[in-house]
Amino acid sequence: MYIDVHAHLADSKYGGQIEKLVEAYQSAGVGLVINSGYDIPSSIAVKEQSERYCDMFFSAGVHPDEAKTLDNQSIDQLISLASHKKCLAVGEIGFDFYWNKSTEQEQIYAFEKQMEIADHLKRPFVVHSRDASAKTVAFLKDRKSLLKHGFLMHCFSENAETAKVYQDLGGYFSFGGVITFKNAKKDEIIKSISKDRLLTETDAPYLTPHPYRGQVNDSSKVVFVADKMAEILGFEKEQMQDIIRSNAKALFGV
Ligand SMILES: [Zn+2]
Repeated sequence: MYIDVHAHLADSKYGGQIEKLVEAYQSAGVGLVINSGYDIPSSIAVKEQSERYCDMFFSAGVHPDEAKTLDNQSIDQLISLASHKKCLAVGEIGFDFYWNKSTEQEQIYAFEKQMEIADHLKRPFVVHSRDASAKTVAFLKDRKSLLKHGFLMHCFSENAETAKVYQDLGGYFSFGGVITFKNAKKDEIIKSISKDRLLTETDAPYLTPHPYRGQVNDSSKVVFVADKMAEILGFEKEQMQDIIRSNAKALFGV
């Protein structure tokens, strides 16, 4: 089976058509989806969606763009969401110094606070890092005690040297539609990462893989990502799916 470890199926682009999205991924052979929150309302929405489908799980977290919204009340809400039996991880959390929608101080506070929540609940966390490579590396290196339950570098777009550091810290890596784009140049980075740390995602509704680039993405299209990864690594499609299945089990426990 195929696995999408990061999608936003509660996004307003879908107009609440969750049933259609589920039918589409199920008929494409996708057997596990992690529906991801990026603030408190979206984390509540993905929780409610995942309660309805046995092959859908969720992550709850406050994205760095929204870091400024994390206060004591939302921290309590997040702890309660992340304690839910279908919540597999805290995320997405991290640093975004491209958009800078929250200040660096706000982002540091939110990232650390949410790593602590994940650690306390014995859950992994999902990292969004954009224009923040050096800072993310240093930040995680300084907080090794909070990395015991693993973490995922989602939509990984950094270099092989950085991947090695995350890998040594216990990190996993997911790749999305970008690896299917012409001139993506992702072969070397994927080959450089240990096979037991690789995962696949869509980040739907964004980053739609080839040949659907330009359309709205959905979890069924993770098939193109996993098959491309198999091609890059010289595996049979089924072999690649088995590897991803066991990596998801290792990190998320499902
Ligand atoms: Zn995302």
